[in-house]
Amino acid sequence: MATHAEIGVIGGSGFYSFLEDVTEVEVTTPYGSPSDSLFLGEVAGRRVAFLPRHGRGHRLPPHRINYRANLWALRSVGVRQVLGPCAVGGLRAEYGPGTLLVPDQLVDRTKSRVQTFFDGEPLPDGTVPNVVHTTFADPYCPDGRKIALRAAEGRGWDAVDGGTMVVVEGPRFSTRAESRWHAAMGWSVVGMTGHPEAVLARELGLCYTSMALVTDLDAGAETGEGVSHTEVLRVFGENVERLRAVLFDAVAALPTADSRSCLCTHAHDGWDLGIELP
Ligand SMILES: [Zn+2]
Repeated sequence: MATHAEIGVIGGSGFYSFLEDVTEVEVTTPYGSPSDSLFLGEVAGRRVAFLPRHGRGHRLPPHRINYRANLWALRSVGVRQVLGPCAVGGLRAEYGPGTLLVPDQLVDRTKSRVQTFFDGEPLPDGTVPNVVHTTFADPYCPDGRKIALRAAEGRGWDAVDGGTMVVVEGPRFSTRAESRWHAAMGWSVVGMTGHPEAVLARELGLCYTSMALVTDLDAGAETGEGVSHTEVLRVFGENVERLRAVLFDAVAALPTADSRSCLCTHAHDGWDLGIELP
């Protein structure tokens, strides 16, 4: 059991470092190594695997994260539902620092990231994934979203229900022109890691719920000098305790793996994948 988990959390080390009896598990995948070891522990009687998205000590910038290895590693220890907290910039004046938004849509503006397992390229064991076109109209788990919102409400945090997260390549922050454009399109928040994390989860039949913590007003939405990394870290630090509380309440409320009935479980209907998922 020590090496098994049902729920994955991809986020910072603040989310697992206080847990007792954490088992560190090194996982290798056909796609290389994940960002770090998985840290397995228990929250409210549920087995949870924590994965520091950027690796310990924030070694990996968003565009160098091995997203495929991260999701594959989680699935290989048994994970079927993933919570993905992340820091974002707010694109509307009303989404100031400390806002929690549970997005329901995503726009991909990344440039260099591999975003599919099903590219027809042979795996090291000789098996070849087929080309698969995954349905992604609703990129997030509808059940996970509801649970995340309810968990926030239970902690007195009035989270924003829905909105579009635009994901940029980074690691730089946006120019004012880019930020004005993102806001003019009606998008809500801007981040750097939400894609391809969500689509790769869907390709593996995992439920994925994004929980976006606004740490700054993005360049166009503010009149100051623009976003600074110091400010992002400060606001994230201020909110990490309550975000962790919300996450843990959400973990407790997620359905068991075999009682899932959401669209995520039908991602492969009608497709021959060509490979066995772990
Ligand atoms: Zn789901």
